Amino acid sequence: MSLKVGVIGLGHMGSGMAATLAGKGFDVSGFDLSPVALEQASGRGVKPVAGLDQLIKQSDVLILSLPKAEHVEAVCLGPGGILECGGEGLVVIDTTTSTPEASRNAARILGTLGIAFIDAPVSGGPKGAATGTLVMVIGAEDDDLARAMPVLEGISEVRVHVGKSGAGNIAKIANNLLCAAHLITTAEAVAMAARAGVAAGKLLEGINAGSGRSAASQAMFPNWVLSKAYDSGFSIGLMRKDVGLATALMDRLDLDLPLSRSVAQLWQASSETLADQEDFCAIVQRTDAQFYGRGE
Ligand code: NAD
Repeated sequence: MSLKVGVIGLGHMGSGMAATLAGKGFDVSGFDLSPVALEQASGRGVKPVAGLDQLIKQSDVLILSLPKAEHVEAVCLGPGGILECGGEGLVVIDTTTSTPEASRNAARILGTLGIAFIDAPVSGGPKGAATGTLVMVIGAEDDDLARAMPVLEGISEVRVHVGKSGAGNIAKIANNLLCAAHLITTAEAVAMAARAGVAAGKLLEGINAGSGRSAASQAMFPNWVLSKAYDSGFSIGLMRKDVGLATALMDRLDLDLPLSRSVAQLWQASSETLADQEDFCAIVQRTDAQFYGRGE
């Protein structure tokens, strides 16, 4: 009998993960507060379930793909959630970019009922979710990770077990802080060179073969910035959330990290001109509105 997987949160990432698993023969059902998201996922081989409690009760493994830690806490510990409706043996894989504290708290409380909770935030965007090629940084006990592995293997191609509960989110926050910085530094370098007479496409060809490259120069600039498409499927509101998580971590550890603080300030200030639903790559427009604007 195939494993019954329930996906909670069928947005850009959750819908792709659910469809990927359904395509690989898992028995996949899903729940989302948005009827539109539920409807769209049902067209991709995912069985829609109208109630969160029902989905929890019928699943062997749950995948969470929710916007923020507060949503994870509500689904795990709130009324009609996993604590109330889940039973011993259930495995919860949280792919949300959340806080280490929320992960540790959920793992501890659900663990008292014999429910495993692992934090497995992801990189790779909607395309990685839809093709089962995500990269995961995982915080978990070894035996919980082993129980989650068949499903993790279905949605990801790289899994790095970085430590115990919460460690996955610490690693993801560090990763996204770098990504946030690289988008800004690449925007500055490309605009500078362009104004000095070197075409952006040629410059990136050189950078991507050289030591200045990053995912910003290799993927984000060609796909979503220089094309002026700004349609990566990752909202700037969610990236500002991730940068805010990095600031909170620096504050908690009382760390003096001046460049990271400047990066965080630039992202926070972007809310004055870029609404939450804009694409995260649009941050480059703050560096040079004319050069990076959508144009005509
Ligand atoms: P999204 O906004 O597209 O989807 C989130 C979904 O969760 C929405 O459909 C929303 O209706 C649903 N939801 C919210 N609260 C809910 C609840 N209580 N119960 C059920 N459904 C609920 O977001 P996304 O882009 O898919 O991102 C999901 C998570 O993955 C975020 O933490 C994000 O930071 C992270 N992430 C996103 C990307 C990306 O490229 N989009 C990449 C890596 C990580």
